[in-house]
Amino acid sequence: MHEAMFYDKLEEGKVRCRLCAHACLIAAGKRGICMVRQNQAGVLYSLVYGKPIAGNPDPIEKKPLFHFQPGTHSYSIATVGCNFQCAFCQNWDISQHLRESEAGIPGGGLGGGEAPPEQIVAQAERSGCSSISYTYTEPTIYFEYAYDCMKLAHERGLKNVFVTNGYESAECVAQCQGLLDAANVDLKAMSEEFYKHECKAKLQPVLDTLKRMHAAGIWLEVTTLLIPGKNDDQAELKELTAFLAGELSPLVPWHVSAYTPRYKYRHGGPGRTPAVSIERALAIGKEAGLQYVYAGNLAGHDSESTTCPECGASLIARSLFSVGKNRMKDGKCPDCGKQIPGVWR
Ligand code: SF4
Repeated sequence: MHEAMFYDKLEEGKVRCRLCAHACLIAAGKRGICMVRQNQAGVLYSLVYGKPIAGNPDPIEKKPLFHFQPGTHSYSIATVGCNFQCAFCQNWDISQHLRESEAGIPGGGLGGGEAPPEQIVAQAERSGCSSISYTYTEPTIYFEYAYDCMKLAHERGLKNVFVTNGYESAECVAQCQGLLDAANVDLKAMSEEFYKHECKAKLQPVLDTLKRMHAAGIWLEVTTLLIPGKNDDQAELKELTAFLAGELSPLVPWHVSAYTPRYKYRHGGPGRTPAVSIERALAIGKEAGLQYVYAGNLAGHDSESTTCPECGASLIARSLFSVGKNRMKDGKCPDCGKQIPGVWR
């Protein structure tokens, strides 16, 4: 076990975790909402430090990051646990594993083998990856582990990527500065009701994190998993894209991904997102001024590729997670010379 970062010791052996926006008040012997941080006799511990449940060299396009080292692989790790409880979670078997299983008692059910940060970085190098992604579940909840991996990764010339729900506290984002190179943040909807009922969380902290990460100079891309009848209201999408273009930047790439029924939505939930809904959302994004909007989970769709917003030239062709022709030259369009925002090396 590893003592947690970001917590206060309080009276009667209680602690207050400050890692994410839930700010859990945790009595002795209890765990926080994420179920992987436990108060033991007034000391808060991470139960999942060095216990990855997954470790795979993934295409960076799978995160998805389309303007960050395209065509490279990112060594992708996760532990069990999550601070959200999304009813439609696409990785619920590991994110909600503890909640769903009696085996989730400390000492059992935490999954994976032991892998200290040195081993993760060595595996990333051995598998030819250019970065490490903290992904699949929510990296915030295993922050101490990710933080130590990030420091070592930078020493070895590897970049660091968070795929996150954006629930980090301001302190946590500040701690990431200089170590976290890129993040794909889920903006699941533009509705407090949606966050409350479908995710057991709040919208506002996610908007705050997006602004903080953008201001901190972390390369940012945003994903919305479009769920029929749940978060695809046109007026709401207009509000969401106006926030991205107005409060962040028109240059922030927005990925609109098709959802497949999983977890609690498997039985009686909405069906898979039709392509036409994705296309409608992308059009709303363009109307809001976003210059880079992408379709996700629609293999072979035109909107998976990057085109120059100035002259319309094809820059990077993609199909699902694979990159075809990449015509970019030093981060610029080879035809008109327009600078395309991103991290290209
Ligand atoms: S990281 Fe876990 S324990 Fe800490 S505030 Fe968030 S949900 Fe609660």
